[in-house]
Amino acid sequence: MALKKLVAGNWKMNGRRADLPEIEAISAAAATHPGVDVALGLPATLIGPAASAVPGFAIGGQDCHWQAAGAHTGCVSVDMLKEAGASFVIVGHSERRTDNHETSAEICQKAQAAMAGGLMAIICVGETEAQRDAGAAISVVTEQLRASVPAQATGAIAAIAYEPVWAIGTGRTPSAADVAEMHAAIRAELTAILGAEGANLRLLYGGSVKASNAAELLHVPNVDGALVGGASLKAADFVPIIEAALA
Ligand code: PEP
Repeated sequence: MALKKLVAGNWKMNGRRADLPEIEAISAAAATHPGVDVALGLPATLIGPAASAVPGFAIGGQDCHWQAAGAHTGCVSVDMLKEAGASFVIVGHSERRTDNHETSAEICQKAQAAMAGGLMAIICVGETEAQRDAGAAISVVTEQLRASVPAQATGAIAAIAYEPVWAIGTGRTPSAADVAEMHAAIRAELTAILGAEGANLRLLYGGSVKASNAAELLHVPNVDGALVGGASLKAADFVPIIEAALA
């Protein structure tokens, strides 16, 4: 049975209180499309204000620490995100793997802490351009999955985002055939890791999704949604992507 699609935005280091009207407009549009789940990953400072502005709409963070509290300057815990109003968290985004040297083992701990603490974890994986050119895209991504996905993951509390690093923010996307091949490989690997439950995790595609390519990408086999960066910042850009998930 097809999984309900999830279209999640990743605002990265963008968004201040002045942007709350965009979030309100996205939430209002999402409410008119109950056939698709919609969520926004916001900077930590905007989670509380957004949760107050759009109660019931899925707001999340973009990273968490795996420990509950302690001497970790600049980090946020799962409980802090939840208290602010988050219902999910993105972990292992390639920008954090690169900028913050996060390892798959750490990402696994973050995902585990998120799920145990009541947040859905969106676990990101993806190959670099050099890895794809070397023919290693599938082996890189399956290795990331093996090391990043906790054994306790279920479809209710975890999703995977396949984001080729070379497609993020570049305007370039893989072909539908390449996405289909990768998502089939991810599905097979999840089944190897999680058994039958591997069929229940939603597999999001991310990397330069926009209104003009969303319909094609969102209807590739085994694509159960999208993780959207730049095109999630404005309702005018994001709402057509939500609608493409339904078509
Ligand atoms: C992302 O960084 O998660 C992302 C998909 O970005 P963009 O849509 O801007 O490529």
